[in-house]
Formats: sequence, C-alpha cells, structure tokens
Amino acid sequence: MLDLLLKGARLPGADGLRDLGVRDGRWAEPEPEAAEVVELGGALVTPPLVEPHIHLDAVLTVGEPRYNLTGSLFEGIAIWAERVKDLTAEDVKRRVRQVLRWQLANGVQHVRSHVDVCDPQLTALRALVELRDEVRGQMEMQLVAFPQQGIYSFDGGEELMRKAVQAGADVVGGIPHFEITREYGERSVKFAMALAAEHGLRVDIHCDETDDDHSRFSEVMAAETIRLGLEGRVTASHTTAMHSYNAAYAFRLINNLRRARMHMVTNPLDNSVLQGRFDAYPIRRGHTRVKELLDAGVNVCIGHDSVMDPWYPLGYGDPLQAAMVLAHYGQMSGYEELKTLVRMITVQPALALGLENYGLEVGRPAGLVVFEAPTESDAIRLVPRRRLVLRAGKVVARTEAARTTVVWDGVAEQVDFLKK
Ligand SMILES: [Zn+2]
Repeated sequence: MLDLLLKGARLPGADGLRDLGVRDGRWAEPEPEAAEVVELGGALVTPPLVEPHIHLDAVLTVGEPRYNLTGSLFEGIAIWAERVKDLTAEDVKRRVRQVLRWQLANGVQHVRSHVDVCDPQLTALRALVELRDEVRGQMEMQLVAFPQQGIYSFDGGEELMRKAVQAGADVVGGIPHFEITREYGERSVKFAMALAAEHGLRVDIHCDETDDDHSRFSEVMAAETIRLGLEGRVTASHTTAMHSYNAAYAFRLINNLRRARMHMVTNPLDNSVLQGRFDAYPIRRGHTRVKELLDAGVNVCIGHDSVMDPWYPLGYGDPLQAAMVLAHYGQMSGYEELKTLVRMITVQPALALGLENYGLEVGRPAGLVVFEAPTESDAIRLVPRRRLVLRAGKVVARTEAARTTVVWDGVAEQVDFLKK
C-alpha cells in the first residue's frame, strides 16, 4: 500500500494527467490503495524548484543603514560596504532563516548562495556553513566563496579564498570584471578555477556583469574549463556584457561555452534594473543572450540574485517571479518558450548544481511543487502561490486557494482568471 497517492497531476511538457505514488518518502508506481489520496485536479506539478544564484548574506538588509536612492549598482555597493561593518553571525542567520522559509513556501528545496568572503573574519561564510548543517533536513544549500571586491584588488584576497575553501565553501567564485585591470581579472579566473580543481569543487563566477563590451572573461572561463577538465562543473553567472558583443565574437564565444559544457545563470530581476545605467536613450537591456545560448544547446538557468538588499529592494525569493520577468525582458513569450522558462527554474539549474536524485522518477526522493495553475503558461502569467510543496513525501508548505468574488450588476460571481 502507498503512503500517498496524488491524482490528476499535469506534468511539464506532457499531455494528459498522471497519478503519482509515494512510499517511504520516495516516488513509487501509482496503486489504487493508499493511506492518503490527494486530488490535484489537473494542476501543474514540477519537481522542487532550484535556486542557482542568490546572495543570502545580504537578504533583508534593504534600508540599512540607508535606502538606495538611485537604485544603481554603485550606490548599492557603497551602502553594502557600510552595512557589512555591523555583520554578526546571529544577524546573518536570523535574516537567512526567514528567507529560507519564504523559498520553501515557493517550492525551492535546493539553493546555491554566493557569500562575500572579502572579510578577514569570514563572518557570513562561517555563519552560513553552520546554517547549512542546521537546515539540511529542509533545504540543501551550496555556498560559493564570492570575493565581492575582487581577489587581486582586495588585500589578501587569494589567502581569503583559500581560507573560505578550508571553512567549508562548496563552490569557488570570482568577479573578474570588477578587478582593477584586465590582467588581474584573467589571473583571478585562473586562480579560482585552479583552486576548485585542486579541491574537487565546482566553479560559479560572477562574470562580465557590466555593459562594457570589452569585458571578456567568459572566454577565459571556457578555456580554463577545457584545460583543467572541469566540463559540466562550471557556471558563469550574469554575463550581461554578452548583450553588447558584436555578433561574430558572440558566435565564437557561445560555441566555446558549449564545448566547455558550461552552465549559464541569468538574473532578470536584478539585471533588468541595474544594467544600462550609463546609457542615454536608447537604453540597452544589458542582458545575456539567453535565446542564442539555449539555441546553441547551452544550459541556461534563471537566478533570483537579491531579496530586499541594497541592490534590489523587491522580491520574495520566488523563482517563478524571476521567470515572469524574463518572459518579458528576454522576449520569451513564444508558446514553447514559456515552457522553457519553467525548465529554467527546475531541471536546468538542477543540472548546473550537479544534483543527484532529482526528479519525479520512481525511486527518487518524493519532492514536488503543485502550482495553483493548470499549465506553464498560466503559472508564469499568474505567478500564483504554491498550493502544495512536498519534501521526502511530506507536506512542507501549503497555501489555501485564493477565492475572489466580483459582484457584477448585483450578482456575486467567482473569478479565477483562467481561460475557460
Ligand atoms: Zn549575483
């Protein structure tokens, strides 16, 4: 007998409805006999959402010590430099515990967080390493050693990166376009990737997050990936400069990214407001070439990046909201493209993070998300709260269905915003 039978699930990209069985916390073949039966009524169901790019150490610091009046990246960096002086382990943990709960409510069960390690005490990283263990039953976290102020442009940067790896970072990061010179940037990529190779870690570098079309560190990442045999273990995040590259260079670069089997993370929420700030009209979107990368067979994922911090005052940790913005900002409103957006917050980041045991196949841990919508298109259109989130076969989040009534010409009617 099953522990749980879920009836009438609509799976991404599939026609018709399916039943899903759970036994001992894992997916099992559906059977009529079950201790509990839940009717899903054709709701869209996906494996757990995967957040491949967030900065948990900075979440919920908006307005501390002051608000970002221009909304620019540079004012954000200046405010963070002030806020970071007051950082304590308890302060970091308190804010992160809250956002992890928001993420779980949104269906996220795997999170990769960048953590600023330009701090001789590594306060945030040490706090998050402890928290990673504390929350293991609820959320799987990967921590990236992220040198916010550079590896060669910050005093003792190399040593801090080594210390961060010793302290328990899972992934090695970088920020080559922010280093003082192009040479420092190239060296920082080579250092980070060698460090990762030496310790058997993955790589995730903030790369070319600028509108400067001369910022060309993604090609260095591709070359080092191939040279070190790190294919499939390396992610380039942001790569907004790609928006401004000439077509011939972009063609060559994208081919090499594919050859290196690199993963790309685009962050539509932050980058839609931060890029193009030095442009007079027309203002560039400053967004990586999502469609060209996907067409070339490169794995592209959607990241959230910030939740209420000095760079981005909005957000509530929902990857679906980021997908909704990319539908517009990346012009991905085509019929198949809307389905692709849902893969970009589920199976595609699962691949980038190297998750094993992920998915709805029989035998895997029974994690899933039930959307209050029948199709991918409706989910992106409505960005509804998640009806149900399961982890290892147990309900870990639930939202009661919203009921909206209009009184039309004196008669009460319910509306659900679905095309009938
Ligand atoms: Zn970032």
